[in-house]
Amino acid sequence: MKVLLLGGTGEARELAGLLTGAGIEVVSSLAGRTSDARVPVGEVRVGGFGGAGGLAGWLLGYPVDAVIDATHPFAAKITENAFSATREVGTPLLVLRRPGWTSEPDDNWHWVDTASAAAELLPRLGTRAFLTIGRQGLDAFAGTGLWTLARCVDPPEPRPTWCTLMLARGPFTLADEETILRDHDIDVLVTKDSGGPATAAKLTAARRLAIPVVIIHRPPVPTAPAGSAGPAGSVGHEVVETVEEAVQWVMRASHSPST
Ligand code: NAP
Repeated sequence: MKVLLLGGTGEARELAGLLTGAGIEVVSSLAGRTSDARVPVGEVRVGGFGGAGGLAGWLLGYPVDAVIDATHPFAAKITENAFSATREVGTPLLVLRRPGWTSEPDDNWHWVDTASAAAELLPRLGTRAFLTIGRQGLDAFAGTGLWTLARCVDPPEPRPTWCTLMLARGPFTLADEETILRDHDIDVLVTKDSGGPATAAKLTAARRLAIPVVIIHRPPVPTAPAGSAGPAGSVGHEVVETVEEAVQWVMRASHSPST
C-alpha cells in the first residue's frame, strides 16, 4: 500500500515513521516554508502542488491508495485542496486532526474567530501582549498600541518594527513559558487553538500567573455535501484525532480487497 501524507506537523512525522516501519510506502509532502524543517523518514517531496487541480493532477501521475491530511489544524487551504482533489480523483482521504484545547476552571479565556477580532479585543484585556500565533496573521496586531512580543519559528518578511520578535521552535516547557511571561511583564496572551501538548505549556503558565488568554477558533474541517461522491465513485473521508487511530485506519485499508 502507498499513501501520500500531507505533513508539516509532529504527528505527520510520527505517522510517517510508524507506517514506514510497518511496511507501508509513504510519500510525505511538506509545504517548504519553514527553514531547517524537521524531515520525516521515507520519501519526501517539498513545495505546493498548485492548488486543488495541481494536487489532483499529482494524484493521477503518482497514484496512491490513500491520502492522509496530517497538516496543522490552521492549514485550511491544503485541507480544502485535499478534499477537493481526492473527490475528483477517487482516492480515499483520512484527516488526522488533533483535538483542540479546553479551558480549566481557573482559566480566563476569550474565544474569537479571527486574528483581527483578537487584536480588537486586546486593549481591553492588557497592555503587554505575548503573541504565539506564528507569522501568519501577525499584521492584524500592528495597530493595537500595546507593547508586543511575537514568537515565530522564522521571521516574518518584511520584519515588523512594531513588535519585539522571539524566534523559537517548540516544544516549550512550563518553566520556559513562565520565565517569558514574567521577564517581559506579559499581561495578556494570544494563541490559536492549535491543540496538542507541544505548545500547551503557555496555557498552564498563563493560568498560574492569572493572565487572560485570547484564543482563536480553528477553521472547521470541510465536509462533503450529503450523499455526494466524486466523479470516480465511492470516495470517502474519515477524521481521526490520534496517530494510533491513523495507523489503524491504514492497516485496515491495506487489508481490504481493493488495495
Ligand atoms: P495552507 O494555508 O493550508 O496552505 C497554503 C498552500 O501551501 C497550499 O495551498 C499548498 O500550496 C501549500 N501547502 C500547504 N501544506 C502543504 C503540504 N503539506 N504539502 C505541499 N504543499 C502544501 O497552509 P499553511 O497554514 O501556510 O501551512 C503550511 C504548512 O505548515 C502546512 O503543511 C502545515 O502543516 C504546516 N504548519 C502550519 C501551521 C499554521 O499555523 N498554519 C503551524 C505549523 C505547521 P498549493 O496550493 O500550491 O498546493
